[in-house]
Amino acid sequence: MNNIEVYNAMENGKLGIGISVNGPATVKDLLDVWQTLCDDESIFKQYAEGNYALCKGCKLNCCSTAYVIPDLVSFKKMAFHLGLDYAAFIAGYFQQEKRDAGILRLKPNPCVFLRDNICSIYKVRSLICRLYICTPLLGDTEELIYKIAWTGAAATQIFALQNGLTTGVGGALSSFDRLFAHLLDEYKNSEGVKSFLQARDYQDVPLQHFITL
Ligand code: SF4
Ligand code: SF4
Repeated sequence: MNNIEVYNAMENGKLGIGISVNGPATVKDLLDVWQTLCDDESIFKQYAEGNYALCKGCKLNCCSTAYVIPDLVSFKKMAFHLGLDYAAFIAGYFQQEKRDAGILRLKPNPCVFLRDNICSIYKVRSLICRLYICTPLLGDTEELIYKIAWTGAAATQIFALQNGLTTGVGGALSSFDRLFAHLLDEYKNSEGVKSFLQARDYQDVPLQHFITL
């Protein structure tokens, strides 16, 4: 049973989508519910064709400009999917300039995995890719999804550091890099990061680390 429900409500004069968590749930439960939003062409999407379309096949695809640091579950799945060890995966698919600053960002503009406007690793794409949607969200829901995605990304950074795959964050940082470095510092000892470090898949990461039930 999935304890997550989607609802609509007005906030600051705008209609937004929110989720309520009504009992124990995991990141997988959230992803299952969230996918229905991406697959729903009746939902307003700012960048979708005609504002109402499926995310699948979107031509103004958010993947062209996305800043993606994969969460740790997807980082491991991507490397396995490509048949690469972690060092080779990082060397081939992550932006050199950010690697020099100790940040594991996928090669961008467009994303290294975008082929003919389609994600070539859709089944193992990262949380930030799965959870981004260009529709108004209620504040608490937006905060929750970004907290989960960036906690997962922080776990990747910590895993890479622990395994000698990257250096600590420093050097030439953009304003977004600095924001991420701040989040990394904030999340590094959190239960959420510990959970991602131990998880084999998203059902191993309880939402309770990110939300007050
Ligand atoms: S969330 Fe991304 S893929 Fe979906 S409609 Fe918006 S821009 Fe397109
Ligand atoms: S990993 Fe896939 S979904 Fe994510 S930005 Fe790259 S192409 Fe888009």
